[in-house]
Parts: sequence; structure tokens; C-alpha cells
Amino acid sequence: MNDNGLSITMLGTGHATVTKCYNTCFVLREHDRCFMVDAGGGNQILRILEERNISLTQIHDLFITHSHSDHILGAVWIIRRIGQMMLAGNYDGNLKIYACDEVMENLKTICGIVLMKKITNLFGGRMHLVRLQDGDSHTILGRKITFFDIMSTKLIQYGFNLTEEKLLFCGDEPLNREFYPEAEGASYLLHEAFCLFSEKDKFGPYEKHHSTVRDVCQTAEELKVKNLILMHTEDSHIADRKKLYTEEGAAFFSGNLWVPDDGESIAVSG
Ligand SMILES: [Zn+2]
Repeated sequence: MNDNGLSITMLGTGHATVTKCYNTCFVLREHDRCFMVDAGGGNQILRILEERNISLTQIHDLFITHSHSDHILGAVWIIRRIGQMMLAGNYDGNLKIYACDEVMENLKTICGIVLMKKITNLFGGRMHLVRLQDGDSHTILGRKITFFDIMSTKLIQYGFNLTEEKLLFCGDEPLNREFYPEAEGASYLLHEAFCLFSEKDKFGPYEKHHSTVRDVCQTAEELKVKNLILMHTEDSHIADRKKLYTEEGAAFFSGNLWVPDDGESIAVSG
């Protein structure tokens, strides 16, 4: 693939209530090991992983950014399936689940209600609950990943930074100015883009604390980002989304603009 073999596979690219694609979630992948970031909102995640040829046995690190339904509920299905596989002897090793305190408590509560006890009994055992604090670093896929509080005004949410690769993921809200120094010159910035600027009156991104393609592209240009990956979008013209978003963005951003479809992989060059 490339020097370091690292890639991003978008499992979903849509916002919370899309029907023509899946909610935003992805895996960072190296060889046969995956770091999963969010899981979308439901059981479809199991089909999507199957379609991408990603076995649950390849997932040993799962990060939940925040407690909104389109990010946390799919994780319940991942935990359920991996738990069943652990109990049946079909999953080697452990699963680490990374989340800040609030999200971890919510996840435990939801799982406690909807999953069988034999699954939730694995929490603290083969399912490690790794409680994140702002600035915590962990080694995942043999790389240093630093998690940070994105300073959401809606509800607590974390993002992460691969310092070595200069890859920054700021969750599903506009990058807070506080983090501009970290994003400056980033090789990869994964950022939400709710809709086109030309359709902002139709979709009202700002009321939902989201960005338009033009907004993100202007920010990324200012920060001299090399690769900008857009996600968490509306789905009203999904077939033309890549073309329309690329056209609008290219007028403002001179780096590589990625508008991936669900299932698309992007190689991270070292
Ligand atoms: Zn979301």
C-alpha cells in the first residue's frame, strides 16, 4: 500500500439521520489490525464491517467520541458480538474501549439495559474500559495517539491526534480555534462538513454547530493542511456529493480534498 501501511477506511460518512449512507465512523487500519472510531447508530455496522472484509477479531481498540445516538449505539452491537465471540473462544486477546468518563458511564448504562449480563460481566476483564482524560496518550497500532477534549459547547466530546503522522480528528464539530496551532501544517485533517455553503439556507448547519464545505476548506487553507477529509454530511444528493463538494471546496482549498463515500479507503502516507 504505502511506506507505513496505515489507512483510513470510512465505514460511514453521514450525519445522524441519514438514510442513504451510514452515520460517520471509521477505522484506522494497519495490516490486519484496526482502531475503530465510533460505530454509528445501529446493527448495520456489523454488515458494513463484513462488506469491508473487516473481521471483529481485527478490532482490539474502540474509541467512542461522544454520547450522541449516531456515534454510541453502534458500539453496543460491537460489544455484543465481540463479547459473544470471546465467550465462544473465537476472539483472542482483549478489547480496549476508550472514552471519557461521561461517555463511559453512558455506554455502561446503555449496555447494562440492553445486553445480557454475561456480556457486561466482561467489562473490566477482557473488555478494558480505558477512561480518557484530556491530553492522555495511548499506544494503538504501535503509534502514539493523544486524545483531547474538543471543547464542544453541546456535550462533552473527544478527538485525537497522531502526532507522528500529523493526523488530526476533531470529532463532529468545527475545529475550535484553540487547536489551530496543532492543526497548522497537518498532513491529514478529518473534519465534518454538514452541507455545501451554497445550500446553507436549506440545511441550517450553523444552528447545529456544523460547518459547510466552503468554511472547512477556508480553515484548512489558512492552516496549510495537506489532506482534508470531509465527513458527517447530509445525504440529499449522495450520488453527486463527491463532485459537488469537491467543486465547491477546490475554489478555497489548494491541498488534497477527499470526499469519501461509505466504504472508501484512504492511504495515509508517511
Ligand atoms: Zn454526529
